Amino acid sequence: MGVYGVIGFPVSQSMSPIMHNQEFQALQMDAYYTAFAVHPSQLEQAIEGIRALHIKGINVTIPHKVAVIDYLDEIDEEARLIGAVNTIKNENGRLIGSNTDGEGYLRSLLFLSKAPLATKKVLVVGAGGAARAIVIAIARHGVQKIDIANRTISKAEQLVKHANQFVAGSAISIHDAEEHLSEYDIVINTTSVGMSPHVTDSPLQVHNLKRGTIVSDLIYNPLTTLFLKQAKERGALIDNGVGMFVHQGALAFEKWTGISPNLERMTKTVLNELGG
Ligand code: NAP
Repeated sequence: MGVYGVIGFPVSQSMSPIMHNQEFQALQMDAYYTAFAVHPSQLEQAIEGIRALHIKGINVTIPHKVAVIDYLDEIDEEARLIGAVNTIKNENGRLIGSNTDGEGYLRSLLFLSKAPLATKKVLVVGAGGAARAIVIAIARHGVQKIDIANRTISKAEQLVKHANQFVAGSAISIHDAEEHLSEYDIVINTTSVGMSPHVTDSPLQVHNLKRGTIVSDLIYNPLTTLFLKQAKERGALIDNGVGMFVHQGALAFEKWTGISPNLERMTKTVLNELGG
């Protein structure tokens, strides 16, 4: 049997086990996926355990995405640029790290957008780990510009500097982002503002949003944040974090098994879990 899993701390809330196990079952694969709670002080031993136990693939979640790099044999280009790993493949004892978060978001955005992204102006709100992954993926794919707004502006400046090797864009304040919101075709909340239980908070006022703007929120709990609700009221095309979650999982599944999972079925499983 192929054993797969996710390491994090805490990790009991992860929806990855049910999403992957449903898929293994549906595809009649002899495989099982489980969640491993790994304390940061035991990360190195946990990674050695992957080799010793012949675990075929592992997802990595908070707080290990950056620290894990030190214990891997190799990381791919995307993970290097993002500076974090969310997927490990065990190739005969060689542990290869990659990052499917950014590409996962990009795939879900392309599915929603239909039109090419090359001429689009993008605003990213937030400059943490998730922002880094999606900014790099979108920048490498190619858009007209990516501006980044964040509560701590110095973090936005750092991320913009990194992204500027691939794409134009500036760091701006949240206030300036709100003032100039009508200039953007795609607006993405990557902060945790609005996540349950703080469902009455919003990362950005949307009065100046233009109709038809794509507005994404990486949060999926709740499925429709206040930010998305308000954006929809102003005529935006909205998208929650389920698409990114499913796509990042599907990309990992493909890397490990060489088999493309059924995205529709995975989405249904996740929505069922979330009560949507
Ligand atoms: P992170 O590295 O801790 O970054 C958090 C970001 O949120 C920072 O930009 C931070 O701003 C901002 N922030 C936090 N509290 C704030 C507040 N009260 N007011 C204003 N800004 C605030 O976290 P992350 O890993 O990037 O995750 C961010 C969100 O993305 C989470 O909700 C997570 O669940 C979601 N996510 C979703 C998926 C998916 O598959 N859908 C995947 C990964 C993450 P400062 O820099 O000023 O602190």
